This record gives sequence, structure tokens and C-alpha cells, in this order.
Amino acid sequence: MSLTNRILLAMAAGIVVGSGLELLLSAQSEDSAVARFINDYLVYGLFDVLGRIFIASLKLLVVPLVMVSLICGMTSLGSSARMGAIAGRTIGLYLLTTGVAVSLGLLGATLLGPGKGLSIESASTFEAKTSPPLGDVLVNIFPSNPFAAMAEGEMLQVIVFALLVGFALTRAGEAGQRLAGWFRDMEVVVMKMVGVMIELAPYGVFALLVKLFATMGFGTIANLAAYFLTLSGLLIFHGLVVYSLLLKTTTGLNPGLLRAKMRRVWAFAFSTASSGATLPITLRTVESRLGVPKSVAGFAVPLGATINMDGTAIMQGVATVFIAQAYNVDIGMAGYLMVILTATMASIGTAGVPGVGLITLALVLTQVGLPVEGIALIIGVDRLLDMSRTVVNVVGDATVASVVARSEDAFDDAVFNRETAA
Ligand code: ASP
Repeated sequence: MSLTNRILLAMAAGIVVGSGLELLLSAQSEDSAVARFINDYLVYGLFDVLGRIFIASLKLLVVPLVMVSLICGMTSLGSSARMGAIAGRTIGLYLLTTGVAVSLGLLGATLLGPGKGLSIESASTFEAKTSPPLGDVLVNIFPSNPFAAMAEGEMLQVIVFALLVGFALTRAGEAGQRLAGWFRDMEVVVMKMVGVMIELAPYGVFALLVKLFATMGFGTIANLAAYFLTLSGLLIFHGLVVYSLLLKTTTGLNPGLLRAKMRRVWAFAFSTASSGATLPITLRTVESRLGVPKSVAGFAVPLGATINMDGTAIMQGVATVFIAQAYNVDIGMAGYLMVILTATMASIGTAGVPGVGLITLALVLTQVGLPVEGIALIIGVDRLLDMSRTVVNVVGDATVASVVARSEDAFDDAVFNRETAA
């Protein structure tokens, strides 16, 4: 069986086994011997530990990978002049797709009205974390200490530093070339490590999903079915229709093929609920299966994992309307525009980690004067939706990277059309 199919099978098996354990646990009293064994030794023992090791090993690759791929990308361009155009187009498309995504969320939720007639009595209190002001977010993109940035995993700062190093390397004559050679060798080594992680993925994905589904509890989903279904439907629509249109009209490439080639990335995104942890796999897949050159992928993919979160933006659109409906507040046209603006801006500077979308949602709600405690209404079903929107987030990064590569005439059609052993 091909590796991708094994990963997908592990995913399905993880969901089934996890849900089975959940059912078993809910049928037992909490302190029965069986429940204790399942909880202590399996769910919070074996599977939790394996899953956490898997995520940690993915994350450990992120900083070295972003550094070497961006630097190699810049040096492979030869001169840095084109980097400006690539960066401009990438950032522009990221903002545009995010804006479209929030609007879609707002429109869909307004039409479908998932929060209408809901009693808000069920809302408990939600401690909102405050988000820093936009000025600080922008200043924070520039590192004062690159090693601190790497140690803290501050992705945007690492990206800025790598761009600077890459820029300087292309202008540093022979010394620059020697060092660029070293980075190219490093890239081969780091990519090898990513390859090892992909080989291990079936076990990691299985462990993560068993733990998640065994502890999730589906009771809340029934109460919030309208919200859950509206958001899921819009995520699927964005992933299938909006990206296909964007890809087809701007590049002529076959969107179905892109999606098929991204399958293993989906599995990583779904089980980790983190675009950041999925980044190594996204980058490798975008380069070696879609045919996006390093110069574009090395920049677009790490940046996208940090600033481009279309799935999250859709959630924020839907959640805002849902909360407004539940509290019977009309935010008006100006409110809608404010949501589009803040949700798009908020996506910059928040790393792709599980649940971060809810933190930035607090910012959006505050901007339009909605009660932040409204988040308590949806938090119960957020994990599963987080997993699904992360898939949309990473597919968005790959789609934009392909569009930019094509516009640069740098896309490798032969790689894209090549049958890959899955
Ligand atoms: N988990 C998402 C991601 O990593 C972000 C979010 O919506 O919470 O892309």
C-alpha cells in the first residue's frame, strides 16, 4: 500500500478507535478498572505520549527548514530583484483570499442564520486573551535578536532574518557562494528528516487522532449542529470551489490534481490542527509534487503558514454572525466591513497553532462591540472545526504558492503532471 494511503488509513482508524474508546468510556463509571486502564494507560498514556512526540518532532524541523529553504530560494533566484515581485504578489494574494474567506463566512452565515432563535442562557464565561495592537504586531515582525526569534519560534521574524541573509549571500561574492553551498547541503539533510517524519506519519497520526476522539465528546455538536454544519459546508465550499476557480482561472492547472497531490498534507493538517506543525510536509509536497520552485515555495509556504488562514477567517465570519444572532445584535453593514478588515489583519502575526483562531476572534468581536463571552457558545465544538479549517489553511498556502510560481513562469508542469507514487 502506498504511504499516502497508509497515512489516510491510519487517520480513519484513529478516528474509529478513538470514538470507540469514547463510547466505551462513557458507558463505564469513571473509576471502574476498565475506564482507569483506558484513560491512564492508553488515552493519556501511550497515545498521548506518542502524539506529543510526533508533534514535537514536526515542530523541531520548522525553524531549520524555514531558514534553509528561504535562503536557498533566494540564492537560486540569483538576484534579489525578483524576490520583491514574488513577495508582493504572495502577500497580496494571501490578503485577498483571506478577505474573500471572511466575506464568504459572513454571507453564508447571514443567509443560513445558524444562531437565530438560540437562547444565550447557555453561555458561560470566557476569559478573552487580549491581542496586541496592530502597530506592535508590525514592529514585532522585525527581530532584534535572530537567535531569540529562532528559539521562540517567531516565524515572521525568522522569515525576515532568512530573507536578509539570503539577500546578503547573493551579494557577497565568493564568500556568499561558499556559504550558499553549505545551505544547499543543509537543505538536503533537513529534507531527509522531513522524509523520515512522513514515513512515521501513520503511527503519529493514529496516536493523535485516537487521543483526540477518545476525549472529544460529541454531545455538544448536536446542540450546535446549525453552526457546525454551516461552517463545515462553507469550509468545503471554499476548499473545493473558491480555490479551484482561483487556480483554474489564473494558471489553467487542474485543481483536482492539486488536491489529490496534497492528500497527505491534509492528513497532517487535520490530525495536528496546526499549519505550523504541518509546514515541513506542506513545503516538501509543494516543491516536489506540485512543481513550485524553491524560490517561491521557500517564501510563500512558511509565510502562508503564519499569515494565511482562510479556514480560520471563514470561521471568524461565521462565528461573528452566529454570536450576533444569538445575542440578537445587528452589527450593520459597517460592522461587516469592520469584521472583514480586522479578521484579515488579525490573521497576520498569529502563528498557525491549534485554537489560535478563537483568540483572534476575540479581537474581531471586540471591534464590532459583540460580547467576547459569546465564544463560550462555540468553544465546545471548536476542536473538530479547528482541524478542518487547518486543512483549508494549508491548501490555501499551496494554491497561492502555485499561482505565484506560475505568474513568475517558474512553475514546473512536468512535476505537476507526473504520476507520483502516492
Ligand atoms: N489551527 C489553525 C492553524 O494552525 C489556526 C486556527 O484557526 O486556530 O492553521
